[in-house]
Amino acid sequence: MTQTTRIRPRRILATGAATVLMASAAIAGIVASQAASSGEAPTFSSTVTPAFDDGPHQGSPGVPGGAGGLTEADGILPDGVGVFDGEYPAVANIHADLLKAVRAAADDASADGIRFIVNSGWRSAAYQDQLLQDALAQYGSESEAARWVLTAETSAHVAGDAIDIGPVDAQSWLSQYGAAYGLCQTYANEMWHFELRPEAITDGCPASYSDPTEDPRTQR
Ligand SMILES: [Zn+2]
Repeated sequence: MTQTTRIRPRRILATGAATVLMASAAIAGIVASQAASSGEAPTFSSTVTPAFDDGPHQGSPGVPGGAGGLTEADGILPDGVGVFDGEYPAVANIHADLLKAVRAAADDASADGIRFIVNSGWRSAAYQDQLLQDALAQYGSESEAARWVLTAETSAHVAGDAIDIGPVDAQSWLSQYGAAYGLCQTYANEMWHFELRPEAITDGCPASYSDPTEDPRTQR
């Protein structure tokens, strides 16, 4: 057998191995996603980093000084606002029960040296519209944008029923302990987005939807 004939099969094998590896990675991703949904192992190590956070982000026309004309009165937040900073409409207009739960969790998390930051809370319809326009521009299709940003009619943020928490250590803390406060991640692709599920205090959080398009509340 010549060297060439030995090398060729190896190359084919290598390609095959790569395919198997990719398939394994895909399966691992599915397993991780399912585990996350069950609330048992909230691992969000997905390589799919959302290019568009459903909260405010730098460069958005919605950020003060941008072209959107939106202000803090629309729920725009500067960086670093905490859950107790009720002077901001984005915090003050969150549903009282949700805010109370988040503040209780934040109090306990602070004992672990973790501070909750509000990346987004309540938003005006105009602000939500702007986020949707940004997402459409970024993703180029309505179907892909819908995986990340809901309409003003369907967004829980506009209703005051959702809060986006950062940074990552706070998200991890809430993933692990949030159920005890009735705080649950709604979407597996948005580890920062929490809503109030009072029944979670006794029953644990329900399985999360893989993304907002699977949420029956978003179907119109
Ligand atoms: Zn959110």
